[in-house]
Amino acid sequence: MLARRETKVEEIIIGRGEHDRDLIEFLTDVADERQIDMGLITLIGAVKKAKLLYYRQDEKKYHPVPERDGPFEIISGVGNISLKDGARFVHLHLALSDHDGALIGGHADSGTIIFALEYSIAKLSAEKLERGFDPQTGLMLWRS
Ligand code: ZN
Repeated sequence: MLARRETKVEEIIIGRGEHDRDLIEFLTDVADERQIDMGLITLIGAVKKAKLLYYRQDEKKYHPVPERDGPFEIISGVGNISLKDGARFVHLHLALSDHDGALIGGHADSGTIIFALEYSIAKLSAEKLERGFDPQTGLMLWRS
């Protein structure tokens, strides 16, 4: 059976992100500080610079989304927190818009720099989900 948990929200943390910080690093720090092994992330705000990845299913490899000049608005940031190799791991996707309102998006990589950030993280009480290699997709997916 595919990995699944039934869970409840233990607490919700909402806050501001730190200007000039790496977005993934910042969220991972919040997860570590609040000991969030399972969580849901939503955020809005703006980034100075974006590093996005796109997963090529045919090659089973991440490729960088071609860089475009920022800054960008974060139209939507959605992600989760779980464990990977025993450490807290933030998985985040971003939809960003530029000064024309044109959208780009992808899997957020480190190197995405916060301009302003409003985040909320729901800490879940579920039994932990750990990521492991999935040969079918080549991805580190949740396993039972
Ligand atoms: Zn992703």
